[in-house]
Amino acid sequence: MKKTLACCLALLISAHVSHAQQPQTPRLEDLHDKTILVFTPHPDDDVFGAGGTIALLNRNHNKVIIVIYTNDDKGSFDPEMNSQRLAQIRRAEEEVSQGILGTPKENIIWMGYDDGMLEYAPQPKLTEEATAIIRRIRPDVLLSVDPGEWYERWHMTDHRMAAFNTIDAVRAAEFHLYFPNQRLQQGLQPYKVPEMYFFYPSPQEANYFVNIDSVAELKFDAATSQVSQFQPAASKYRPDWDPEDLAKAKAELRDLQTRKDGHFVEAFRRSTGFNPD
Ligand SMILES: [Zn+2]
Repeated sequence: MKKTLACCLALLISAHVSHAQQPQTPRLEDLHDKTILVFTPHPDDDVFGAGGTIALLNRNHNKVIIVIYTNDDKGSFDPEMNSQRLAQIRRAEEEVSQGILGTPKENIIWMGYDDGMLEYAPQPKLTEEATAIIRRIRPDVLLSVDPGEWYERWHMTDHRMAAFNTIDAVRAAEFHLYFPNQRLQQGLQPYKVPEMYFFYPSPQEANYFVNIDSVAELKFDAATSQVSQFQPAASKYRPDWDPEDLAKAKAELRDLQTRKDGHFVEAFRRSTGFNPD
């Protein structure tokens, strides 16, 4: 009963505060010297979903920290590939990719779950781990995969789980009675995430667009540096590109990139507190 009351109260306060603060809230891409925490199911969704925004945030001297739920060790069609090797490849590719966007590899946290298996991880442990990260990093802004998007929700196991788990952890991080051992043993204090942006939103729910024109090519460079995610390396692994394949992959990414009013943009669903606006 008390829990319900706290939830409802938080919802009301969140709705009130978000509306009251909206006029003063700076644009995400204009933030300076803030801490930004990005949760991603796999070591490529951060780049595909928010790579341009991450590049802009790094350019503005924000501290961007990327948390990756899984090691992405299953997504290859190459019969010669094995999971251990693929995990190493994906890790190295993500470090290069984020490096292009300005994120040092020291700012990448690997949670290390197996690809496709996040749903079968012990749920309390998964939420507790993400909660500890939030309480330790204490981000000004959190980015994550959208728990509301239909395709992600029904068809993408790790995306579904990462999305729900992150938002569950955001909620738990606020209340000291969730995972109280974190305060007792590690000195981690409760923390309320002030602002969240969800990437991969449904077109109907996207309510925030970041113009990435100035970093779009950087984003496509970063994305295509994850060679194993694309053909032909996905079917027969090779660490590099033929120039014509690379040009074709970048052209496809340009075509796929969301546009608004003639500009390259990244779409988000913006939220404050743990409730949508
Ligand atoms: Zn993914």
